[in-house]
Amino acid sequence: MSQGIISENLQKIKGSIPEGVNLVLVSKRQTNEAILEAYEAGQSVFGENRVQELELKYASLPKDIEWHLIGHLQRNKVKYIAPFVSLIHSVDTRKLLHTINEQAEKYGRVIPCLLQVYVADESTKFGFSEEELLALYEDSIIQAYKSVRICGVMGMATFTDDQAQVRSEFKRIRSIFDLLKAHFHREDPCFNTVSMGMSGDYTLAIEEGSTMVRIGSSVFGSKH
Ligand SMILES: *Cc1c(COP(=O)(O)O)cnc(C)c1O
Repeated sequence: MSQGIISENLQKIKGSIPEGVNLVLVSKRQTNEAILEAYEAGQSVFGENRVQELELKYASLPKDIEWHLIGHLQRNKVKYIAPFVSLIHSVDTRKLLHTINEQAEKYGRVIPCLLQVYVADESTKFGFSEEELLALYEDSIIQAYKSVRICGVMGMATFTDDQAQVRSEFKRIRSIFDLLKAHFHREDPCFNTVSMGMSGDYTLAIEEGSTMVRIGSSVFGSKH
């Protein structure tokens, strides 16, 4: 069988990511066939941004795939992914965190989560400010929830060609991670993830301390 374009692109991307940085292959809007090509080329971690699509793909694709939810999550939909999701990148409110904890408990799981931080200057993006994050810990919210495990932070830079701005936003996401690590997760080996960087900006993100990049279009091609 000849090697397809998806596995070729995947090898290229993997070759450009240093050891220690994890690749989440963003498979939103991709067919099962496309996902299977990447899976057969060795990729086992996939990211989706919509719950319904995630559920359908989980049901029909190999069970050793790790599914990450990377997009905004509505509280009433947590129950659909709580049984199987491997990492939720997009925890952006206290209420959502509460619901995830509740659902995880129900399924006897501890669900790994990232706290989404808001640094961009676009009102379309979700996430906590630094002050809100500190308050989450100072109010003992994080400490109280036993069925979620906070593994780090996730963030997105502003959609702009201004590289200096993107770089400074990534720096800021990384510095918020370092702050939380130093104050609240010093002895916690699980708090080790900085999810930042997509197809257009992952090189910058890695330079600024990303440990997990979320890449879709560079591997699958862009779909509109
Ligand atoms: C779609 C998406 C990505 C991947 O973007 P590409 O430009 O296709 O690499 C990463 N993160 C989130 C939250 C996304 O919605």
